[in-house]
Amino acid sequence: MSWVTALARPEILALQPYEYAPWEAGATRLHANELPWRPARDASAAGLNRYPEPQAPELIERLARLYEVAPQQLLIGRGSDEAIDLLTRAFCAAERDAILVCPPTFGMYANAARIQGAPLVSVPLSAARGFELDADAVLSHYCLTQVKLVFLCSPNNPTGNLLSEEAILTVADGLEGRALLVVDEAYLEFSQRASLASRIRQRPHLAVLRTLSKAHGLAGARLGTLIADPEVIALLRKVIAPYAVPQVILEAVTELLSPEHLGTLPTRIARICAERSRLGHSLAALPGVTAVLPSAANFLLARFVDAARALARARAAGLLVRDLRTVRGLEDALRITVGTPEQNDRLLEAWA
Ligand SMILES: *Cc1c(COP(=O)(O)O)cnc(C)c1O
Repeated sequence: MSWVTALARPEILALQPYEYAPWEAGATRLHANELPWRPARDASAAGLNRYPEPQAPELIERLARLYEVAPQQLLIGRGSDEAIDLLTRAFCAAERDAILVCPPTFGMYANAARIQGAPLVSVPLSAARGFELDADAVLSHYCLTQVKLVFLCSPNNPTGNLLSEEAILTVADGLEGRALLVVDEAYLEFSQRASLASRIRQRPHLAVLRTLSKAHGLAGARLGTLIADPEVIALLRKVIAPYAVPQVILEAVTELLSPEHLGTLPTRIARICAERSRLGHSLAALPGVTAVLPSAANFLLARFVDAARALARARAAGLLVRDLRTVRGLEDALRITVGTPEQNDRLLEAWA
């Protein structure tokens, strides 16, 4: 029995996937109850009257090249949010199989656990050590309960720090075969760190989340990728809605993953990182700001003497920043996305 078979929900292993209408180039489609005519003004290549191709091979191929992994290691869905949901549903039986998270972190992991009814185990990041991962604490808590999934986020949202690669791999090695470790790399492009995706071949119980929503500037396209062992991918392909990614998005994103778009990335990322540094220094110099945390992402976490007042002043200037006051340990903090130099200046003025 493989480790995936041992970990996944038996119902999902036994599930007969929905038989979608297959794609055959050149053949006439009389098998999917589609209308034979395109709608007026339909500019799509394939025709919006047709169901899109599930896990479209060309897009998968391009993403595999982008992330330097094999196509069989990829699952695409509606943002990495969908992958988080699918992992939870495929591995965690309600009221039995737990999810371990390290707060303060991205809220979707806990949400997915709650929706599925999976117990949630929290092992906080170490605030005293700059929100670093405590690998020993994760491994000892994991032994106490039937944890199936561990989510780590690096760079972490909302604190902005990278977790130590050594600590992540210590967790991975400690979990081997007993739980799946999912590392969310949504902001990796803004850091100098290499992806952990290359480590999946040696550690099949490691998985990585990537998204086009942040550095690629495609949040509206809702396209995220799970990189994992082919056996995990095959399992999740049984669970994902067959036509998860709409045709217009498939075509637009496939087109955007061209050298022309990809060529614009380094400059844009460098600009954001330069502004991150400038904004960080300027924020730290404001009298109302008590701390600005070092960030490897496209946002900054700042602590305030009076966060409520800072929030109100930003709002009055027509600027929205993220209120973190309900997050444990961040009651005095706001999260600020790095904008254009002009937008950042407006924020600094509002808080001057
Ligand atoms: C923004 C973000 C994502 C991206 O989610 P999508 O559904 O792909 O847009 C994933 N993880 C974290 C931690 C994020 O902050």
